[in-house]
Parts: sequence; C-alpha cells; structure tokens
Amino acid sequence: MPVKNRQIYDIIIIGAGAAGLMAATVCGSEPLKVLLLEGQHKPGLKLLITGGGRCNISNLNIHYRMFNSPHPRTLKNALAAFSPRRTVTFFEEMGVALQAESDGNLFPVTQKAQTVCDALLRQAKKHVEFRMGCKVHEINRFQGVLCVRCENRSFFSKTVILCGGGRSYPQTGSDGSGFDLAQQLGHTIVPLIPALTPLLTDDTEWKGLSGISLVCALSIKSDSGPDITFEGPLLFTHNGFSGPCVLNISRYWIRNPHYFVIANFLPRENAVSFKEKALQAAQGHPRQMVKTWLSTLVPARLAETIIKKTLADEKQVLGQLTRKQREALISGVLLCPLPVSGASGYQKAEVTAGGVDLGEVNEKTLESKIVPGLFFAGEILDVDGPVGGTNLQWAWSSGYLAAKGAVGVRKKNTPFRLQDDA
Ligand SMILES: Cc1cc2nc3c(=O)[nH]c(=O)nc-3n(C[C@H](O)[C@H](O)[C@H](O)COP(=O)(O)OP(=O)(O)OC[C@H]3O[C@@H](n4cnc5c(N)ncnc54)[C@H](O)[C@@H]3O)c2cc1C
Repeated sequence: MPVKNRQIYDIIIIGAGAAGLMAATVCGSEPLKVLLLEGQHKPGLKLLITGGGRCNISNLNIHYRMFNSPHPRTLKNALAAFSPRRTVTFFEEMGVALQAESDGNLFPVTQKAQTVCDALLRQAKKHVEFRMGCKVHEINRFQGVLCVRCENRSFFSKTVILCGGGRSYPQTGSDGSGFDLAQQLGHTIVPLIPALTPLLTDDTEWKGLSGISLVCALSIKSDSGPDITFEGPLLFTHNGFSGPCVLNISRYWIRNPHYFVIANFLPRENAVSFKEKALQAAQGHPRQMVKTWLSTLVPARLAETIIKKTLADEKQVLGQLTRKQREALISGVLLCPLPVSGASGYQKAEVTAGGVDLGEVNEKTLESKIVPGLFFAGEILDVDGPVGGTNLQWAWSSGYLAAKGAVGVRKKNTPFRLQDDA
C-alpha cells in the first residue's frame, strides 16, 4: 500500500455505540489525533432504542455486585472511576439533564434517547474524526503498530479501543464481529449467550394469558450457591413470558435449561401467611368460589388458570377445600413452575452475556494483556447486568476507563513514524 494512503492516528476507536462514544468524548478532550470507525452509516443505533426510546441511562443504586462477571475488581475499578453520580454530572455538563425515578433509574428529562446520543456526538465530533460505513474486518500488528483494516482502507495507530458491542439486535450493527477481531488477536471469548431476552412456552394455557402483567418473584436453582431470584413485573405474551423479571432470569435459564423457573405470584406472602389468608377467607365466606377469592389477589384470568392447574374442580368453594387441595393451591400461587420451552435469542435480547475474558485485560485500564495498545470497552467484554441502566452504566464506565488508559499510553509514547513498505 502506498505510504501516502496511510493514516496514522494516536488512537483509533472501533464502534460508535455507547462505549465508543464515551471513549471518543474522553480522547477528544486531549490534544491527540483520534479516529472513530463505525460499520453502520449512522452512529448510536442501539443507544437510540434503549429504554423503549427513553434511554434508562443508569441507576443511582448500581453496585458492582449486581453484574455478572468472575472479575469483580475490574467492575469495581470502572465504577469507582466513573460512577452513576459521575454519569449525572457528565451528561449535565453536556446540557442533558437527568431525572431519577423512585427506584433510582435515571432517564434524560426529555425522555428521549436521541438527546443523549446527540449530546455525545456533538461533544465527540469537536475533536474526533468520524468515519461511518467503515466496518473493521481485521486488526493486525504491523511494524510495532496496529493496522486496522476496513473494506478498502487501512488505518494505523499504536492504540486501539475496541468497542464493537455484543451480538444482540444485530440490525443495529453489533453483529458479533468485534468478538472475531478480539479472537484473531489471541483473546479468549467466554461462551456467548443472549441475555435479558423473553422466554418461550408451548403451554397453551399460559399463552392464553397474553397481555396480563403483574409483579411477581421468579427463582431458578443455581449450580453453585443459593437460588437466584428476581422480583418485578412479569408480562404474559402470545408465545411465553416477558417483562423485566423474566428478562433478568433468562440468562440463568439459558445456561441451565434443565431447571424450572418458579414463579411466586404473591411475593409479599409466604406459605404460612397465605395459608392463614385462605383459612380466614374460608371461615368468612365458605360458599365463595376459590376462583373468585383468588381473583381478589391476582388478575382474574391468572386465578382461573392456577385453579385449573391445581384443583380438579374449577367451581370448588372455599369452605370445601380439603387440606391437600389447599396445599396444592398454595404451591400453585407461591411456587408455580413455569414451563419454559426456549428463549427468544439475540434478535430480542437486550444484551449478550460472555465476551472477551476479563482475566486477559488489565483491571485498571482495560488494556489487553496479550496485545499492548489494544483496549476494550462495553458489551464486548464478559460483563452483563440486569435490566435498569446497569448495562449502559458499564458502557460509560468502561468507555471512560479504556479511554483514560489509551490516552495515558499515547502520552507516555513519543510520536512514531511508520517505515516505508518493506
Ligand atoms: C432494545 C434494547 C434496549 C436496551 N435498553 C437499555 C436501557 O434502557 N438501559 C441500559 O442500561 N441498557 C439497555 N440496553 C443495553 C445497552 O444498549 C447495551 O448494553 C449498550 O448499548 C452496549 O454499548 P456498546 O457501546 O458496548 O455496544 P453497542 O451500543 O452495540 O455499539 C457497538 C457499535 O460497534 C459497531 N461495530 C460492531 N462491530 C464493528 C466492526 N467490526 N467495525 C466497525 N464498527 C463495528 C456497531 O455498529 C455499533 O454501533 C438495551 C439494549 C437493547 C437491544
């Protein structure tokens, strides 16, 4: 390749998603020549659909233990370097006011992800060169620098931040090619699975509840340690189960599909308190149908399904419930196994679990331990969190940490020149 066509940059960022845009704003605030390469023709396509277009940008109560990762120290470092509070001030300084909901979830006051994306782009584009429609196919080490190859061109830098995202919603550009790039360079990819994705069922009775939503607790046995439980809204759909509670448990079911997902439709009750309630109801209204009574506690159609599945007689009245039937009813409400037959996959998953092994990156800078000068940020790393702003916070925190690391490397190094083609 003729020397004149070569572009030498201080830092090259791959991917204009949440992590890449954060890295670009940080690198762009330094007197460095920074290039951002994005495979799509528009930046931030996934960011724009977050939170149903409202962008759940973070949560004030995020803690590193909420994330799934075997390397909590890296998470701790990233969150200490760029915390949810820092997210608030960072965006406010760019003119994006955030508001917290009662559960700590943070959204832009405009309730529009576009506001967040526009602010990042405005800031980053001041000093960073953006090249859209430049999908990176290969990264090679070449004469002590990294050569980043797109379709028709190559770009050079000693420092690359790879922010290619995961595999979910591939139409937004994160099609998993970032993992291939990391693997080509010698990195281990912890097996990938879709996470935060709806679950499916073949059971027509549960499917018949489509449209019903209620707050419940879902549990699944874990292979190591106590059962995993999430509480929150569950939504019955035409092909299964969705809603935050289901999305949160999905990654655990996908890893352990032989386990039942157990629903507690009255998470404020336990077996003793619920039995007491049932006995009191039977005393007060012995001729009332169990179905009618249960409908005062859970949505009527759900009550009907539970009765069908637990009691032989749908018209059973409270006063004639046998002890065995009462026990069956209590189990049907508080320990109800949901017949999950599958998961929706990457097309509907909010994130990808698995990714570049955190053991292979420096826990303070996110620099590769295998390829000096290569940094990672965002979903490409083996980190995923529950619904509620955690995954974007990881993108902000890791994007910041990797950018600071990359800037540090560039500042330490003297400018370099490529030799002519051999
Ligand atoms: C529907 C939906 C709703 C969500 N809602 C929320 C929410 O409200 N709150 C929350 O915290 N999280 C949410 N998430 C998760 C969150 O969006 C992601 O975790 C986050 O966007 C990851 O950021 P990233 O920069 O690592 O990856 P991405 O945002 O996926 O960005 C990666 C970028 O890299 C580009 N790229 C990939 N490969 C290449 C290549 N080879 N060459 C060049 N460019 C490449 C892609 O085109 C893409 O633009 C949601 C996800 C989805 C799908």
